[in-house]
Amino acid sequence: MAKITRRPLPKNKPTSPKRIQKSHSRPAAKSAATSAPKRAAKKSKAAKPWTPAEVHEAFSRFRNANPEPRGELEHLNPYTLLVAVVLSAQATDAGVNKATRALFAVADTPQKMLALGEEKVRDYIKTIGLYRNKAKNVIALSEKLIAEFGGEVPRTRAEIESLPGAGRKTANVVLNMAFGEHTMAVDTHVFRVGNRTGLAPGNTPLEVELGLERVIPPEFMLHAHHWLILHGRYTCLARKPRCEVCLINDLCRWPEKTV
Ligand code: SF4
Repeated sequence: MAKITRRPLPKNKPTSPKRIQKSHSRPAAKSAATSAPKRAAKKSKAAKPWTPAEVHEAFSRFRNANPEPRGELEHLNPYTLLVAVVLSAQATDAGVNKATRALFAVADTPQKMLALGEEKVRDYIKTIGLYRNKAKNVIALSEKLIAEFGGEVPRTRAEIESLPGAGRKTANVVLNMAFGEHTMAVDTHVFRVGNRTGLAPGNTPLEVELGLERVIPPEFMLHAHHWLILHGRYTCLARKPRCEVCLINDLCRWPEKTV
């Protein structure tokens, strides 16, 4: 396997807003003669796919830094995980946790959720966006779990996707976190990281998901989803990526990275 020499991270080097700002702004006055080749160089650099050795190196670093990454959605069992993921659409994990702590204390099974009823579920989750529709879905999916799956969360993608309010991302999160499957749920963070780094460029979450599944070695797949989410949430931020402290800044293909 090819040896990869890692560029050392600067110690205690503060993030330089000026530098980041500069990287996002277009140069004001540059001659066509100098800017065109530079643009071409940036393009070809961004398009260069990662080698298997580079991918292995990146995920080894993620693993060394955080061997057992945890999702941030609080849950008690596969059912409460499923409900939490359904509630998390267009909401933050912190916001969902705030509401579900009290909800799951009284309803941690489909049977208890039905007994609680839609109106009370609505009260518990009213701080979450789209709560009326989500309360409906939580009740409907609980009914379906009882009617068709013996009150248990099913273990196939198609079955999970058949539940009200659950789509592909929900199925991938549940299959990965509850049942240890090597799935890749693509949320806004994973989508951004997959594209920026050049690991798995794609125009849709599905393209990025399939691209990541193709390039990430199986030994990393159980935790890859969490490593990439956490990387996007805390380091590769949407507006001001913290490239200076990024573990994979020497491997990243983004032409606008700030290191
Ligand atoms: S170098 Fe910057 S853009 Fe690339 S992954 Fe790291 S934080 Fe994101």
